[in-house]
Amino acid sequence: MSAGAISVRSVRDAIRVKRPLVIWQKIIWFPLHISKHSLISWMALLDRLPTKDRLLRMVINDCQCMFCDDPLETRDHLFLHCPMADYLWNSIFSLCGLQFRTRSWESFLAWACSSCKDKSLLTSIMKIALNALIYIIWEERNKKMFLGRSRNAQELLRAIKDIVGSQLRGRNLNSINSVNTNLCKHWDIV
Ligand SMILES: [Zn+2]
Repeated sequence: MSAGAISVRSVRDAIRVKRPLVIWQKIIWFPLHISKHSLISWMALLDRLPTKDRLLRMVINDCQCMFCDDPLETRDHLFLHCPMADYLWNSIFSLCGLQFRTRSWESFLAWACSSCKDKSLLTSIMKIALNALIYIIWEERNKKMFLGRSRNAQELLRAIKDIVGSQLRGRNLNSINSVNTNLCKHWDIV
């Protein structure tokens, strides 16, 4: 393999990886973002959170998911496939009048990159809720692991709704728009 071939391929790979990251940056670091939520989302995106599959390489023997006892906690399981995550995603999408169909982290990123571009209330809610979900799952997983404390799925959904409400309540939302009126009702934004 020639040096030239390696160079062309590495540039092509760099572009392929970089472009979704640039779009994803706008979904995570937007004007209404909550720093601690966005930081965890960003680390999850880059697969830099110390999930147990990563810790396994260092010290621990217990690799089970804290929520469902799946034998291996990975980023994709914890934030997407775990029944806890699945319930929260489905609830968030349902509250937005959408259906959650994502089956892989990659298809989720592709969906978010193509759907979360405009400045609508729906997009704002989805971006706040999406980052809050990742933060809350990570926070809850750590509380269960280190403090033995746990909240059920409904309580976590309530916490996400509270975060969305606190970020958007009192803002000048277009309440004449019927889509926005329904969103405000479902998310308790008044
Ligand atoms: Zn699980």
